Amino acid sequence: MSKRRVRNISGMGISKITLAHENQKLQRHQDLSHYKETFFQCGKCGTCRTVYKDANWSRVCPSGEFGKFEAYYLGGKNLLTWALSTDKLKWSENLAKIFYQCSVCMACVQQCQIPEIHTYAGEWLMAMREEAVKAGYGPMPEQTKYTDHIMTEKNPYMEKNESRLKWLPSHIKQSPEAKLAYFVGCTASYREQNIAIATAEILNSLGIEFKILEKEGCCGSPVYMTGQTEKAIELAEMNVESFKESGIEKIITSCAGCYRTLKETYPNKFNLDHGIEIRHLPEFIKRESKSRENIFTNEVNMKITYHDPCHLGRHMGMYNAPRDVLQSIPGIELVEMTRNRHNAWCCGSGGGVRSAFKDLSSFAAKERIEEAMETQAEAIVSSCPFCLNQFKSNIENDAIQTYDISELIRKAV
Ligand code: SF4
Ligand code: SF4
Repeated sequence: MSKRRVRNISGMGISKITLAHENQKLQRHQDLSHYKETFFQCGKCGTCRTVYKDANWSRVCPSGEFGKFEAYYLGGKNLLTWALSTDKLKWSENLAKIFYQCSVCMACVQQCQIPEIHTYAGEWLMAMREEAVKAGYGPMPEQTKYTDHIMTEKNPYMEKNESRLKWLPSHIKQSPEAKLAYFVGCTASYREQNIAIATAEILNSLGIEFKILEKEGCCGSPVYMTGQTEKAIELAEMNVESFKESGIEKIITSCAGCYRTLKETYPNKFNLDHGIEIRHLPEFIKRESKSRENIFTNEVNMKITYHDPCHLGRHMGMYNAPRDVLQSIPGIELVEMTRNRHNAWCCGSGGGVRSAFKDLSSFAAKERIEEAMETQAEAIVSSCPFCLNQFKSNIENDAIQTYDISELIRKAV
């Protein structure tokens, strides 16, 4: 360890972390064998179970806290990965379930102080899912069902592809020649349509020319995150073809999962270098507000707390833009939960958990909702349709309101 110069790694998204280790040859997005010398560096210290030196050492791992056994925490998963890769263990239904009963939220990875594990453990959590698929033990049956639907109808919600644009109201003005597209994503297209409408209205209100892609389909995130990389690449190729056909140069998305997938996964995992600038809505609005005066003209009097979506925060390192935008809206008071930014507790919807492990998913959501209520905020706000949908499904008796950031921006512009 003495020769290593390691940057302050806490709080950075996985895409932003680099090591200054002279001999560091590891790369992200590789298959399991690439990391085979790294699993054994895990000292089984248990540091990945709780927030490291912050937030009262609160717990971070929904999988471990729900599953109760070491196998469900990162330390246990490392040992199982090592055993499998050295042929001491074979795939079984139980082993696959352990790896799928995890939202791939990366909260554990953020806490581990071993640099190689901190940087790369998320990669082998994903690589193990790919291995499970190759061995015929993954994905879980519920995930196979939605994947089959995605491959034909381009959405996981058992809806028809032809009804994808049903949310689009007639008052929304699109510009067919625009170089900017709004990539809506499946959840905002079919379930949280208020987000799609709010985003399109914001763009109209700010006079920004945009269009919605007629051939938009699922970005592939639910397929990729469950280890089905080849199928996810098929979906990605269809989307990239439609980007090229429509001549767009820039995409705005209101979905954390689409953002991660289009910006990070397509070029760096799938080798689809589309060359298109990808912006998440709050990031885009923050830039716009710098070049214009008084972007927010209406007050939104509300005390809120912000939930970091895993795919936007830990996966992409974006923590400030949504907070900066929210705090720029007149009347908004932002209070933080105990676990925030890179230490945020996952809402429990990602990584295929919501479809295959409903009890775990609900357990995670309820813990986050309780944490939000402890702040005395009136509303829990996120910047991901899937998080919003998860909160709506798990908030009981209207105990707290919940919004997507687009809905608050819409009220303010
Ligand atoms: S993954 Fe890191 S924090 Fe967790 S047990 Fe292993 S060494 Fe400790
Ligand atoms: S990725 Fe999240 S759910 Fe999975 S082991 Fe790590 S903290 Fe637990």
